[in-house]
Amino acid sequence: MRIHSLPKLLRDFGAVFASRGFRCHLVGGAVRDLVARRTTTDYDFATDARPDEVMRLFARVIPTGIKHGTVTVLFRGHEMEVTTYRSDGTYSDSRHPDSVRFTSSIEEDLARRDFTINSMAVDLATMDLLDPNGGRSDLKARIIRAIGDPVERFTEDGLRLLRACRFAAQLQFTVEAATKEGMRQCRERIDSVSAERIQEELTKILAAELPSAAFMLMDETGLLERILPELCEGKGIEQKGMHNFDVLAHSLYSCDGAPRDRLEIRLAALLHDVGKPRARSLGSDGIPTFYGHEEISESMASRLLKRLRFSNAVESKVCHLIRHHMFHYEENWTDAAVRRFVVRVGLDSIEDLFLLRRADTYGTVGHYVDDIRLAEFRDHIERTIGAEHALSLRDLAIGGEELAALGIPRGPTMGVLLKQLLESVLDDPALNERSKLIEIAERLYHSNLKNLEKR
Ligand code: ATP
Ligand code: MG
Repeated sequence: MRIHSLPKLLRDFGAVFASRGFRCHLVGGAVRDLVARRTTTDYDFATDARPDEVMRLFARVIPTGIKHGTVTVLFRGHEMEVTTYRSDGTYSDSRHPDSVRFTSSIEEDLARRDFTINSMAVDLATMDLLDPNGGRSDLKARIIRAIGDPVERFTEDGLRLLRACRFAAQLQFTVEAATKEGMRQCRERIDSVSAERIQEELTKILAAELPSAAFMLMDETGLLERILPELCEGKGIEQKGMHNFDVLAHSLYSCDGAPRDRLEIRLAALLHDVGKPRARSLGSDGIPTFYGHEEISESMASRLLKRLRFSNAVESKVCHLIRHHMFHYEENWTDAAVRRFVVRVGLDSIEDLFLLRRADTYGTVGHYVDDIRLAEFRDHIERTIGAEHALSLRDLAIGGEELAALGIPRGPTMGVLLKQLLESVLDDPALNERSKLIEIAERLYHSNLKNLEKR
C-alpha cells in the first residue's frame, strides 16, 4: 500500500536523508494516525543513519536520547525525533534494554516495538507502507495487540502495561484477549516503572475523552491496585440515595464528566470521594454516611499526587477543589452567606468548583444534568460580586497603616482585627467605609483585643 497524502514537510525531510544515501521511515503514532486518516502533529522517524551521521545532516540537532540512538532535529519549526534502527538486547530491569544494537533493517526495528498498531512505517523515499505485524488490520478492527508473545513484551518493559491502557482510552480500542491476559500476568512489572513515567501516562489518559476505559482496564488487569490503591478501596462501597454506582465507578465516571482539557478538574473528579471508604459509618437506620470524607479525600489525594510527582501547583489546586466540593446552596442563603462562600473558595476557583459539581453529578446518575440550583447559585454570586462588595482583606476600605495610626500594634492582633473587620463587611457591605471601619476597629480593639494582648 502507498500513502499518497504525506505532507510536504515530511517528504522534504525524507529527501535530506535520501540525498546522502540514507533511508528514513515515518514510524509510531503518526503512521497510525495517517492510516486511520486522523490528523497528527507529532512525528517520529527511524533511519539507518547513525546518530552522529544524523547530526551532520542538519544544522540544528539536539542529542535528546543519544544513548538509545535518538536525536531531535529542528526542521522548519518542527521537532522531529529521529532514532537509528534498533534491535534491543535483553531487558533485566523491566524497563530498559541492557544493550541497544543498531541495525540496518527496518523490519528488525519494527519487531521490537510494543503493539501492532504502533509498528507500521512509511518509507519516505517511496511512500510505501510497511506493515510486517498486521497493524493495519488491527487498526481497522480497533484492537490493541502486543507484537509476538505478550508476556515477553510486558516482561521486557513494564511501561507498556500502562501504554496499553492509555491507547485503549485515547483511541477507544479494545485490548485483544491474549494481550490482556499477558498484562494481568505481568502486572507486577509496573513496579519497576518510575513515578514520573506513570504520571506522564496518567496525564495522557486524563486527556482522553473517557479516561474510565483506561482505569477499568487497569482494574481488570491488577494494575490499579499497584499504582492507585486508594481508588480500589472504593470497590463495592455502595452509596444510598441518588447514587447508581459504587464509589470506584462513581469516581471514574465523574472523571469522564469533567472537561478533558482541564487536568486539575479531572484529577479532582477522580479523587474527590477517595476518602469515602475510610469515612464510612452506618447510621442507626442502617444507611451508610460519609461525614467528613472531603477532608480525608483531600489528604489522601495530596499524598497520592505527591507520590506520582505531580507539580505542587496541580496538587494544591486539586486539593483545594476536593476540600470544597461539598457545598449545598439553598435559595434562602443570604448575601452574606454567599460572600462568605466566595471568600472561602476564592473567586478564581468558583467556576472550577461548579465544573467539578457538574462532573460529580454526571458520575452519580450517568449523564449530565441541568442543575437549576447551581444556576441560581451562580446568579446569586454574580449579583453579590457585581455589587462590588468587599471580598478580601485587600478590598477593605482601611488597612494596616490606618490601624497602626490608631495605636494598634502590628502583628497577630492586627491580623485578627482585620479579619473581624472583614467579617463585619461580609455581613453588611455598607460598613466598608473608612470612618465606619475605624470606629468598629477602635471598639473591637478596646473591648477585647487589647486585653488579649496583655495576657
Ligand atoms: P503518541 O506520540 O501519541 O504518544 P506514539 O505511538 O507515537 O504515540 P511515542 O511514545 O511517541 O508513542 O513512541 C513512538 C513509537 O515508539 C511508538 O509508536 C512505538 O512504536 C515505539 N515505542 C514507544 N515506547 C515504546 C515502548 N515502551 N516499548 C516499545 N515500543 C515503544
Ligand atoms: Mg509519538
